[in-house]
Amino acid sequence: MALIVQKYGGTSVANPERIRKVAERVARFRAQGHDLVVVVSAMSGETDKLIKLAREVQPVPDPRELDVLVSTGEQATIALLSMALIQMGIPARSYTGAQVRILTDGAHTKARILSIDEQRMRTDLSAGRVVVVAGFQGVTEQGDITTLGRGGSDTTGVALAAALGADECQIYTDVDGVYTTDPRIVPEARRLDTITFEEMLEMASLGSKVLQIRSVEFAGKYKVKLRVLSSFEDKNDGTLITFEDNPSMEQPIISGIAFNRDEAKLSLLGVPDRPGIAFSILDPVGQAHVDVDMIIQNIGVDGSTDFSFTVHRNEYQKTLDLLNNTIKPQCGAREVRGDNHICKVSLVGVGMRSHAGVASLMFKTLFEEGINIQMISTSEIKISVVIDEKYMELAVRALHKAFGLDGATSPTKG
Ligand code: ASP
Ligand code: MG
Repeated sequence: MALIVQKYGGTSVANPERIRKVAERVARFRAQGHDLVVVVSAMSGETDKLIKLAREVQPVPDPRELDVLVSTGEQATIALLSMALIQMGIPARSYTGAQVRILTDGAHTKARILSIDEQRMRTDLSAGRVVVVAGFQGVTEQGDITTLGRGGSDTTGVALAAALGADECQIYTDVDGVYTTDPRIVPEARRLDTITFEEMLEMASLGSKVLQIRSVEFAGKYKVKLRVLSSFEDKNDGTLITFEDNPSMEQPIISGIAFNRDEAKLSLLGVPDRPGIAFSILDPVGQAHVDVDMIIQNIGVDGSTDFSFTVHRNEYQKTLDLLNNTIKPQCGAREVRGDNHICKVSLVGVGMRSHAGVASLMFKTLFEEGINIQMISTSEIKISVVIDEKYMELAVRALHKAFGLDGATSPTKG
């Protein structure tokens, strides 16, 4: 008998029929003798609908009020799931984030969880009840409703699993696990039985949408056993996120390819090459609350250099204006350039630590497809390149093939 936290995403609770299906799965686990805490998202599309509604009333919605509004999506689904369970004869109780005191800081629309009071849930569990908790929401010390950022129900699930010391946290979604890359782009993409926590963290931060990145961070911090599986079919065990440091010899060097079109590139050309220049460019950007991702500075020639960086595409215009109006005159650069039609493609794999030649195979593959690389950044277990967005799908497909992720046998297995 185990304590299991199950989280169901929006598509899994999209209508009464699917909610009943969720209740049936919960019932099956309970019949096996497990204790269950179930976290649900809002019905798919509901959060978007509420945000749109808010914008129609106030173009830039007040963050506190926006949280009050969007948290209603999850409040509806917890009640409906509990009703479905009760209808099946299974005692169940729903709770909002505030009711189980998922205490957060006050950063509305992107709050962080500080603590959770599991007492009430434990009481229900020992009385044989299924506990159903609203994902995505919490409450501040002052009693204000907060939300955890888009996709935040994953984080609720993992945080509850951590607080309760659950044996496993199962994230049920509309795909049956974590894939080598997005199957919509590469039909040959394969489901991974396991992926290491570090790889999952990279995949989530580099554009894989399977799990909210904060949930992965949480799982790492509290060593929560986390599994991603399909809520529509039970044909496999999904993908288990492991904490193994030494993957088996059979493990391919690359586990996955992530990509995103969320970024834009900005360059300052002809910047005087002297101490403090990077600071003088990026400090005002940071002051404007713009997060910078990749950064490249060329070697200086004749006392000047070029400096490029990427930001979220939503911040492109703001950053471009800042560069033109403030930073360029201040630091004496010659020219500002920007490009918001780029994409970032990344290879992720812990096998890179012990294998040379990953970068060169990546660059060779892109070269053979005639794709120009604009920026490169690496870490111990990932290599990212920035390329023209129109080549994104081509690049991902070619790399998936070149690194042997398409088929069973791989030329790059260790
Ligand atoms: N309903 C929220 C969203 O759409 C939270 C979630 O589903 O995880 O972002
Ligand atoms: Mg999600």
